Amino acid sequence: MLPTKGYAAMDAGAKLQPFSFERRSVGPKDVLLQIQYCGICHSDIHQARDEWGGAIFPMVPGHEIVGTALQVGSDVTSVREGDPVGVGCFVDSCRTCDACKQDLEQYCEEGMILSYNGRDKNGEPTYGGYSQQMVVDERYLLRIPKNLPPEGAAPLLCAGITVYSPFRHWKVGKGHKLAVVGLGGLGHMGVKIGRALGTDVTVLSHSEHKKSDAQRLGASDFVLSTEEGIFSKLANRFDFILDTVSAPHTADDHLGMLKTDGTLILVGAPNVPTTVGAFSLIAKRRRMVGSLIGGLKETQEMLDFCSKHGITSDVEVIPIHQVNEAYERVINGDVRFRFVIDLESLS
Ligand code: NAP
Ligand code: ZN
Ligand code: ZN
Repeated sequence: MLPTKGYAAMDAGAKLQPFSFERRSVGPKDVLLQIQYCGICHSDIHQARDEWGGAIFPMVPGHEIVGTALQVGSDVTSVREGDPVGVGCFVDSCRTCDACKQDLEQYCEEGMILSYNGRDKNGEPTYGGYSQQMVVDERYLLRIPKNLPPEGAAPLLCAGITVYSPFRHWKVGKGHKLAVVGLGGLGHMGVKIGRALGTDVTVLSHSEHKKSDAQRLGASDFVLSTEEGIFSKLANRFDFILDTVSAPHTADDHLGMLKTDGTLILVGAPNVPTTVGAFSLIAKRRRMVGSLIGGLKETQEMLDFCSKHGITSDVEVIPIHQVNEAYERVINGDVRFRFVIDLESLS
């Protein structure tokens, strides 16, 4: 076993604090990675505060993980020592169900094994990337393109793939008008990747001060969602809407902005149900769909796409002892646009 230092929430109301635990020894198919950077996703906060239910404590959050392969098992073929590697939201799945066979491990019928707040095949809790090192089966590792700075690449492992996957699945691209609702970690990746796919992007935000950032990121328009009458002004305008909002809200206002046959892609995951009135959908044959991160093959495709287009996340790098303050700032929308923890600060 490998003694490891990290930061954990000891229960749902607690601040994160230093925590020591053990990683498994490196098996034949395993890679030991030294973690360099780990992003702070809003899902980390939802889970550390048990807002979705079923949380396992102590919890070491973190699923936007980038590091270097320190040691590889005897049967590992895809990774060599020293390679830059990444880990996203899951570290295992059943590997045999229809979803796993179709490279959709995130929808594994037995349930994917989350990188943290999950249980591995022996029933032991999994611990995430707010830590020094991790042992992962090579099948569940991603290759980080060498031209991407590791701190900017880390958030691609969740925020990046969460927007890329539905864009590809629903064929979002050239000629489409896309609205991105909520300019946070996911939202700013939605603008960058949406632009790279050729869409015309409008940002809908409740934060006026984000206007210049939206334009700098490539949006052609910025709309303040708190403006009086804004939803009637924007009625029937968009082919696609990406809803990344982390707080409770209704879908009706957003659905009304879609053209006939338009699609609302829901990725934000508030802790109370998002309400929908039937007429918002049936009046114009609109669709409302959900999407959960992405499978390994598609995540690698997204990393290579970002490498080709020079896309990374806009990050604010912090030492780990500032994690609790960072959580408060994320909740208050005070981050441009992702906090990333430098794990060297643990040693
Ligand atoms: P984030 O950085 O905090 O961004 C969320 C954005 O939502 C904020 O920047 C803000 O944008 C908007 N927002 C927040 N509170 C609001 C309020 N009261 N009213 C209106 N807008 C509000 O969070 P994130 O990391 O991007 O994650 C966003 C959501 O997606 C979270 O619920 C997270 O759990 C979920 N998520 C889902 C998946 C998936 O696979 N589906 C993956 C990762 C994360 P403006 O200031 O611009 O309005
Ligand atoms: Zn995430
Ligand atoms: Zn499966």
